[in-house]
Amino acid sequence: MESRLRHIAGRGYKSYQAIQGDYDFGTFRLFIDHVQSDPFAPPSRLRARVAQSRARFPASLYANRIRTIALADLITRGFANSIRRYVKGSRGTGRSGVVLVDVGGQEILERTSCLVNEEFVEIRFSVGLPAAGRRCLGREALAIFFDEIPHLVEASLLYASYDPGVVAGHVYTAEDQKALRHQLAEHRLVAFIANDSVLPRASGVSDRPLRGRDVVAFTSPPELEVEFSAPNRDRVRGMGIPEGVTIIVGGGYHGKSTLLVAVERGVYNHVPGDGREYVVSRPDTVKIRAEDGRRIEKVNISPFISNLPFGQDTRAFHTDNASGSTSQAANIVEALEYGTSLLLMDEDTCATNFMIRDGRMQQLVPKEREPITPFLDQVRHLYSEHGVSTIIVMGGCSDYFDVADTIIAMDHYLPQVVTSQARHIARQQPALRMDESGGGFGDIGLRIPLPQSINPLRGSKVKAAAKGLHSIQFGYQVIDLGCVEQLVDTSQTRAIGDMLVYALRRGYIDAKTSLRQILERLFQDISDKGLDVISPFYGQHPGDYALPRPQEVAAALNRLRSLEVVRGGEHGRA
Ligand code: ADP
Ligand code: MG
Repeated sequence: MESRLRHIAGRGYKSYQAIQGDYDFGTFRLFIDHVQSDPFAPPSRLRARVAQSRARFPASLYANRIRTIALADLITRGFANSIRRYVKGSRGTGRSGVVLVDVGGQEILERTSCLVNEEFVEIRFSVGLPAAGRRCLGREALAIFFDEIPHLVEASLLYASYDPGVVAGHVYTAEDQKALRHQLAEHRLVAFIANDSVLPRASGVSDRPLRGRDVVAFTSPPELEVEFSAPNRDRVRGMGIPEGVTIIVGGGYHGKSTLLVAVERGVYNHVPGDGREYVVSRPDTVKIRAEDGRRIEKVNISPFISNLPFGQDTRAFHTDNASGSTSQAANIVEALEYGTSLLLMDEDTCATNFMIRDGRMQQLVPKEREPITPFLDQVRHLYSEHGVSTIIVMGGCSDYFDVADTIIAMDHYLPQVVTSQARHIARQQPALRMDESGGGFGDIGLRIPLPQSINPLRGSKVKAAAKGLHSIQFGYQVIDLGCVEQLVDTSQTRAIGDMLVYALRRGYIDAKTSLRQILERLFQDISDKGLDVISPFYGQHPGDYALPRPQEVAAALNRLRSLEVVRGGEHGRA
């Protein structure tokens, strides 16, 4: 390699193509999988692999899937820290000299940045090959390959480069979070927030914990306090939110939304020190909000909306421009279609006419002239018929007192249970409204996506590229994920685009298979073969992906404006 680099020094940038290949550096192997075409193009993709005989990570640290994910996450963070320490950075034109690795934020997600198994540890990263103008800078390249990269490898791919306590903490905290999350259902809880958790974030643009004297650590009210055991730590106590309907009330600015967001993010594992390490919710929790303007493709929103003007069918409701209430109804029904056991709503982002309709309004506008059955009248049926619990932040309307199992008041950031006081008030001052739900919730049926309506081609090329966290360029279309609040990492967005392409290529979307089954097959492949499987560059540097949940993949497909489906059997709840 050294001689090749010396040979191409000073030549045109295209000469770098000659260094593509596989090199033995003695203590590690370097794969140069893809060489950029010019200094401004996305940096070249490389992998560095160290055999376990040298890396020596104890096998217990990657003995199961969650430990492996957490260990790979830690190594990726270690590599990123080493880049800050050892890489000079700019070494010429364009992106010359940059070294990048796809490191996550506060969550520990399965990602393709690092692979750990009993044979080796492999980091996947990118390097901007150095140039002056369009000439190869040989000496700078030599420094990157023979000085910087070996330093990075030594400082982050060997067990000996870490404090063993930090590694164990990272791996076992993640395992404990997962274990807690999976104990929720057997305890008939939907969420758990450990005492002493720190829920508020540093700012509206930072997901790091708020620090300082003003932080109020979380403390469970005695009525809801539960104790859990986790595999790697002492018992942990905190607030368990029971199944059923839970309302969070309290004055403005007393921490209601902060609590709800923590529960919403409780589907993910968090790094030690985040403050939400032991805040967990059901893995299939879905945050619901209004999303006017979105497209809806043949969704059965009839539990909430019927008798629309011009007799539009709301059992297979279609629109290119949903209203606040129809979008919120569709978001709920789509969540049920994939499968969920917990819905979260915050009045700040809900459509008012979807949530409530009080007694006086019922008198003025009779049911026959109002298409909407408010969520208030379906929330109990959702639980009794479908086993779906709901947590709603609702500071402004007392009608929900009548349907709630648990009412929590946030007061100066601390929760109190006020269920009996609220019930007492509701008895003294009845709401005087009628239940409008009629026949209950009912089954929502299945939808079967049609492959010809999902086209990733842009001209003759496949295009499925994330544009930031909340948007995917898919063929000629843009999928808008701005209201999909549980998407947390751009690499998840990137993965979703390629997962859709993968499902098409594998023939999983075949006009016979329901959306839910398509996602099950897709996620089965990923769990069998690893997240690399969705990459068009399988076997090389796969690209930078992090695993999204099926809920977010479904959300993306449901927002593809060209999507067409046929409705399957109306009976199954599959
Ligand atoms: P609400 O939804 O009740 O109006 P928010 O949850 O939006 O209130 O919180 C209001 C402010 O208080 C936010 O800036 C938030 O970061 C901060 N905050 C929330 N919880 C805490 C806490 N436990 N300690 C300190 N500050 C908090
Ligand atoms: Mg709020």
